[in-house]
Amino acid sequence: MPEKVIIIGTGAAGLTAAIYTGRADLKPLVIEGLEPGGQLTTTTEVENYPGFPEGVMGPDLMAHMKQQAERFGARFIMDRVVASDLRASPMTLKLEGGEVLEADSIVISTGASAKYLGLESEQKLIGRGVTSCATCDGAFYRDVPVAVIGGGDSAAEEALFLTRFASKVYVVHRRDELRASKIMAQRVLEHLKIEMVWDSVVTAVLGVEENEVKGLRLRNVKTDEESTLDVAAMFVAIGHTPNTEPFKGQLEMDDKGYLTTQQTRTEIPGVFAAGDVQDSVYRQAITAAGTGCMAALEVERYLAELHE
Ligand code: NAP
Repeated sequence: MPEKVIIIGTGAAGLTAAIYTGRADLKPLVIEGLEPGGQLTTTTEVENYPGFPEGVMGPDLMAHMKQQAERFGARFIMDRVVASDLRASPMTLKLEGGEVLEADSIVISTGASAKYLGLESEQKLIGRGVTSCATCDGAFYRDVPVAVIGGGDSAAEEALFLTRFASKVYVVHRRDELRASKIMAQRVLEHLKIEMVWDSVVTAVLGVEENEVKGLRLRNVKTDEESTLDVAAMFVAIGHTPNTEPFKGQLEMDDKGYLTTQQTRTEIPGVFAAGDVQDSVYRQAITAAGTGCMAALEVERYLAELHE
């Protein structure tokens, strides 16, 4: 017997879909993925999730969502979807462990992964001053200098947002011209709190021993000159990659690989998408949870019609 609904991914979108489909007695099967709990497990305190006036730790919020889903009968598998056949009847999902699952409906909530620079020191300090989300973590760095890495609209937006808190915002860019739209670039270049560090790449994040960011080691790509930048945090804004690999060739995607949806519906009946995998604009826990709820309600409707 195929599963009534399989939910792929356990970030805010997937877990909310699990709570709603669980409560609807659909006994959802949830595939946890490589990063159970999603992007919120890589941050510390979340201050903008409604209902927590004192803030909540990201990992705790996700653990609570999971418990809530389990309370309503959601079942969890620690594995990863590596391939899918969404045109088959029933649809099939192949897991990394080799198992093939069948489903009447699917919610894809595999999220998007922030791109990082790939430095060892950077990886060690993620969540401890290295972050990819100014909205999430900017307020923790008041009256201290911080750095944003990148030169696109995300970097510009993050830098401008951070000027509310930080004493100074350095934007470290590998070229001598911003990729960001003209208006955003102009705002960045004219802002008194922002200083551009052109033609530069980060070669190491300092502070691994202290377990917090103490600064950045930079290399000028034109002169090869090395320097140190004293900052308390590094915001990496070099883009995101949506986790849509197992669905390539089967579902419509935009030029960056995000799934294109109409109110969480994909073009294949019974396949829905929620959260960052279909949202390159808002990318917030609360919006992901919102679309997870929408997808679950769509699943209910779809299954009711299927079994009419
Ligand atoms: P993006 O436009 O792809 O820009 C990425 C930036 O990071 C580029 O400046 C790139 O440098 C740099 N970069 C990439 N890999 C790097 C590496 N390994 N080391 C150092 N630097 C690296 O990505 P995005 O800024 O996230 O924007 C994505 C899309 O969302 C864009 O279409 C953007 O317009 C849109 N967006 C819009 C808004 C808005 O309108 N408010 C806000 C955010 C995003 P190079 O320039 O040298 O390639």
